[in-house]
Amino acid sequence: MGFLAAGEKRRALVTGVTGQDGAYLAKLLLAKGYKVFGAIRRTSMAHVARLEELGIAADVELVDFDLLELSNILRVVERTRPDEIYNLAAQSFVGISFEQAIYTGECDAIGVVRLLEAIRACNPAIRFYQASTSEMFGKVAEIPQSETTSFHPRSPYGVAKLYGHWITVNYRESYGLHATSGILFNHESPLRGQEFVTRKISLSLAKIKHGQLDVLALGNLAAKRDWGYAGDFVEGMWRMLQQPAGDDYVLATGEAHSVRDFIMAAGNHLGFDLAFEGEGVSERGIDRKSGRTVVKVDPKFYRPAEVDLLCGNPGKAQKALGWQRGTTFPQLVETMVEADERRVRDNRLTF
Ligand code: NDP
Ligand code: GDP
Repeated sequence: MGFLAAGEKRRALVTGVTGQDGAYLAKLLLAKGYKVFGAIRRTSMAHVARLEELGIAADVELVDFDLLELSNILRVVERTRPDEIYNLAAQSFVGISFEQAIYTGECDAIGVVRLLEAIRACNPAIRFYQASTSEMFGKVAEIPQSETTSFHPRSPYGVAKLYGHWITVNYRESYGLHATSGILFNHESPLRGQEFVTRKISLSLAKIKHGQLDVLALGNLAAKRDWGYAGDFVEGMWRMLQQPAGDDYVLATGEAHSVRDFIMAAGNHLGFDLAFEGEGVSERGIDRKSGRTVVKVDPKFYRPAEVDLLCGNPGKAQKALGWQRGTTFPQLVETMVEADERRVRDNRLTF
């Protein structure tokens, strides 16, 4: 970055720093010597549990920020003087987006253009990363999906994120901003929110094993996702912003597994011997060792419109960025299950 004085630290503003990716990215940037500003929205309780878990809570300078408030965003960008902005903040849960479609649009669509406007106004040299998503592919036009696959989102979340993607592309093309859209397939970790299916499975099965829950109730067990490890994916985000110009990149593993596959792998690690019986709402996951029903289907977890299959082609990122995922699916499941079993055993569930 030519405009930095010798010895001056690069400065990054990370929105969504209290979330899964924000925590891993902040840790990565600190390790690379950045001054990291973590944009945090005011809530009734301080919630830096993920930053604490990674041992970096004291190293990130927190700044008050909300995607919904342009004047606040302008002041934050002015005051923090970032070289790079990573916009990870969002209403990120597909399920709730059907209930809160307008709010999701305010955050995930209009929130993005607020940030881009702030960059135009304060310093057009700032490099910008937008957290786009494979949910934009939705009802997929081809398998696997890449940067050239057409979009067909299936939820208010996917629709809002598609606006965020295109406005990022548009500001790059219109104003020459270094603006990048990272189209990331699902990525998980022990820091994943409990409402997402992988974490719901790892935590619930650990609780069942330790007598703290009767049964795990889920929706569509047949859905397939390309699940990677969040720690690998934040490295890809950083690499994108080190390129000479902004662009669009897919990050994915190239493998798809079903929700059922995830349950089987997680159950295995915890010592269950699961078998599935029945179909649709009558399907059950039975532990053959005890004869007990461990998994059942509850239609309340079905979505009004579903994304049946996501599987990405990370070829461009591999070639242009030298990015590789390091963690396999079995390793990911094992890490999540071990972390949750430890938390359940120690009665230490902070997020
Ligand atoms: P999380 O849900 O863990 O984190 C979301 C973050 O956004 C939290 O820090 C949250 O703050 C913050 N946030 C929400 N609303 C606002 C708002 N109005 N103003 C300011 N901050 C807000 O998501 P992930 O870390 O998993 O994902 C990071 C980004 O990547 C998101 O944009 C997500 O949509 C996108 N993405 C994620 C994928 C995944 O598989 N994880 C896949 C593809 C894209 P608070 O803690 O206060 O709630
Ligand atoms: P998404 O890909 O961003 O929607 O990530 P999720 O982890 O929320 O969901 C992944 C898939 O799991 C979707 O196809 C869901 O329909 C499916 N799924 C099945 N049961 C559940 C459940 O109980 N909770 C969630 N979150 N997803 C479920």
